[in-house]
Amino acid sequence: MASHNGNRRILVIGGSAAGPKAAAKARRIDENAEVTIIQRIPELSMASCGYPYYVGGFFDDRNQLLCSPTGVVRDPVYYMNAKNIVARTETEAISIDRRNKTVLCQDMRTGETDEFPYDSLILATGALPNIPPVPGRELEGISTLQSIRDADYLRRIRDEKKITKAVVIGGGLIGIETCEALNLAGIEITVVELLPQLLTFLDWEMARLVENHLRSKGVNVFTGNGLAAFLGENGKLAGVKLANGTELPCELAVVAVGVTPNTSLAREAGLELGAKGGLIVNEYMQTSDPDIYAAGDCVEIKHRITGKRVHAPYGDLANLEGRVAGENAVLGNTVTFPGTIGTGICKIFDFTAATTGLSEHAARENGFDDIITVTNASPDKPGFMNGKLLVTKLVADRSTGRVLGAQCVGPGAVAKQMAQWAMAIQGGLTVEDLVNSDLPYAPPFSLAIDHLIATAHLMQNKIKGRLKGISAAEVKAKAESADPPFLLDARGPDEFEAMRLGIGETLIPVGALRKRLHELPTDKDTEIICFCKISLRGYEAALILEANGWRNVRVMEGGIMAWPYARER
Ligand SMILES: Cc1cc2nc3c(=O)[nH]c(=O)nc-3n(C[C@H](O)[C@H](O)[C@H](O)COP(=O)(O)OP(=O)(O)OC[C@H]3O[C@@H](n4cnc5c(N)ncnc54)[C@H](O)[C@@H]3O)c2cc1C
Repeated sequence: MASHNGNRRILVIGGSAAGPKAAAKARRIDENAEVTIIQRIPELSMASCGYPYYVGGFFDDRNQLLCSPTGVVRDPVYYMNAKNIVARTETEAISIDRRNKTVLCQDMRTGETDEFPYDSLILATGALPNIPPVPGRELEGISTLQSIRDADYLRRIRDEKKITKAVVIGGGLIGIETCEALNLAGIEITVVELLPQLLTFLDWEMARLVENHLRSKGVNVFTGNGLAAFLGENGKLAGVKLANGTELPCELAVVAVGVTPNTSLAREAGLELGAKGGLIVNEYMQTSDPDIYAAGDCVEIKHRITGKRVHAPYGDLANLEGRVAGENAVLGNTVTFPGTIGTGICKIFDFTAATTGLSEHAARENGFDDIITVTNASPDKPGFMNGKLLVTKLVADRSTGRVLGAQCVGPGAVAKQMAQWAMAIQGGLTVEDLVNSDLPYAPPFSLAIDHLIATAHLMQNKIKGRLKGISAAEVKAKAESADPPFLLDARGPDEFEAMRLGIGETLIPVGALRKRLHELPTDKDTEIICFCKISLRGYEAALILEANGWRNVRVMEGGIMAWPYARER
């Protein structure tokens, strides 16, 4: 239905990521549409994902959070001039009248209310940060990092340099990014996570590598320990108390324990919500009311591997969903959004952690029982080009070889790995499809056999039974058992001096192994576990032993670089 003068009225509530994207798309599709954005706060199109880097001092000009790629601040004048979109800032949508297709809005400066009619409404109201229901929440010195006000507050703390100790509650993406930002400000940081690991999109042993890296940067980490109370003196935060009774003195606490879809407006309008509290939308990003679309952190979308509805509060998805909602709001349902495979990435100082698809634990939780995993550690580039380590854990369906998920951590080029795996998963590729991938290669960019291809090779070898891998967790348990296996470190003596596990291993460099076979257990059925720094030499050692009659030889996947526990050296 077109409006009074024949032009379609597109009303968008929410002016950060999904909303402006939807509005801009609607405008591009229909030059004559009347497009209006309602935004509660004064700012528009905030790059929320940049807040940790603003707080951390990576850049100083706050306007850069609000700029178009050409450097123009996206304010109402910009939206009107560049896009002919009316952006009503400091205006709150307070109720939706679905029958009359109007939204009641209030100007937050004057208190005046106004009704905005629509032909299509797009909800892009985002998400709200969760706050644990513990005593002391009213104390001064407790913040989240969700809004631009939070970013302003934490940036001021950074600049004032008065605070010496802070606690970050929550070891997810935003919590970890906040740790780095505050640590760079010279503040002593402790991160507290209720669950047994940080970054729960990773499997435990991968998250442990991240935790070890955080600790190496001087961040204190408490996992498996929840927040019990904020402690105060004279109305100001003085510390936090953990569930196990530990008290951590601090002047600042940043709470980053996840977000909940901001859907009160939609709920009151009677729109259908899902189990996670997000708006239920179909593949057209259309809610249970055909005239109302929704996009971004306020919706639940389909997980493309499990088929389940999930809340995926990511900025890239918000934009993509907004684009689909904007087009459909103008043209009717013409384009679809297929859902998410759960791709995410996080910077941890000079380290990166990322995931796409399902981790091993997520695969099992979702009923994928016949899976196979492999861990690969290798550099992203040749040593002469300053190659840096990547550790990847790949999860595949055993019978079909279809890639279900990949996680990658390390100082190397993790983002490139993840982008490749994400496309492989989206394309439904198998390990066999990947072993001969034609990827770009020159020494400044990768190894001749890229880390992704090497990971696929390891998985292929494992599926074919050539690589008999064992995880670090299993090796540790066996090493500590009453009947430990023979543990063979296949590196050189210098490397052994510099770094070693210290779990009862014997050093026999792979180059000397053929001449020193007499040092191996004479019983050819003795369990032998080989490893090296990344387990390439470990694999070669295992093949030598098997060729010489040992029947129970395995390789510790990922080698010492993927060992998540403390080392002797
Ligand atoms: C610190 C931080 C770091 C992040 N880093 C990443 C990252 O690296 N990668 C990534 O993919 N994602 C990241 N995200 C997530 C990403 O920012 C969000 O997924 C994205 O902003 C969601 O966009 P949205 O438009 O749905 O919602 P929001 O950005 O939450 O915007 C919703 C807007 O709607 C307005 N609004 C709500 N209700 C009303 C109402 N009734 N009337 C008027 N206006 C209203 C709000 O004021 C708000 O401005 C990060 C988020 C944060 C906070």
